[in-house]
Amino acid sequence: MKILVTGGAGYIGSHVVKALGLEGHELLVYDNLSTGHEWAVMYGTLVKGDLEDRALLEKVFREFRPDAVMHFAASIQVEESVRRPLLYYGNNTAGTLNLLDVMVRTGVRCLVHSSTAAVYGIPDVVPVAETAPLAPINPYGSSKAMVEKILADLALAEDFRYVAIRYFNVAGADVACRLGQAYREATHLITRALKTAHGQYERLQIFGTDYQTPDGTCIRDYIHVDDLAAAHVLALDYLTEGGASEIVNCGYGHGFSVREVIEAVAHVTGTPFPVEETGRRPGDPPALVADSSKLRSLMKWEPQYDNLDFIIRTAWEWELALKRRESCAA
Ligand code: UDP
Repeated sequence: MKILVTGGAGYIGSHVVKALGLEGHELLVYDNLSTGHEWAVMYGTLVKGDLEDRALLEKVFREFRPDAVMHFAASIQVEESVRRPLLYYGNNTAGTLNLLDVMVRTGVRCLVHSSTAAVYGIPDVVPVAETAPLAPINPYGSSKAMVEKILADLALAEDFRYVAIRYFNVAGADVACRLGQAYREATHLITRALKTAHGQYERLQIFGTDYQTPDGTCIRDYIHVDDLAAAHVLALDYLTEGGASEIVNCGYGHGFSVREVIEAVAHVTGTPFPVEETGRRPGDPPALVADSSKLRSLMKWEPQYDNLDFIIRTAWEWELALKRRESCAA
């Protein structure tokens, strides 16, 4: 199949491009390279472009004529979204609106969409199921919840089907160490902790120790990026086999606290590092853990890497490889 992947040069998108390429699909990656990298696109053609650029987007759609779209291009930092809400509503909500408009006008009817557990806000029940109410507590979550509403309405109005995958905390790197997280500034916990162990930061800050959790720090469901990539391939198969529009959680169903992650990073790297307890980070819910039974039963998702130490080890090997790459380039 011909698949257009927005954001395919980024962290998650590049792992999905790898998985789709291995399945033999023909790929076009549309990415503005704001956080992604050309070297991360292992398969297909890269077009540098922004979702704001409707003329270019439409031209690319008319020339490539995709059978389906996978949409990763988005801004994803909770704390930044609190400071810069318009950036998030612009990139995530308005950007997706442009994409959908071009899809409808060019007759492309299948979409696999990146959504997020942040749409739940502070869930009453954990693990959280897809039926839980949407009550985002930060602009990032709101920008994605709005897109889910737009998708639902569009699927009612047009011959258009989608699977929205609500990601929990994606971490780790390609097992063969060819891809991984390579943001200019590391904000996510595991990467930030690894870079601290590597000496790039003086200390790791723990954002909040007074949450209603067993050790007072936030709990998240960390999933390996290749397990998430596999979920996307299954979602695409599901749609192309005629499946109805669906929203599915993707996580392992158990969580780790910030302190537990820090301990695991120190253990895997063999390098204890300084930690500083600080106040809460705006927009953070205390616990987010997925009930992914729908993804498992409906799309036959069988995760391979449900092991925090393994996830951290792949990320650590990638971190070391990235440092070597950067020092060679310097
Ligand atoms: N966190 C932290 N220190 C850091 C980065 C993150 O204590 O340097 C915490 C953060 O407050 C949250 C959890 O780790 O409770 C996961 O945050 P991350 O940014 O990795 O992902 P998010 O859940 O925001 O998508």
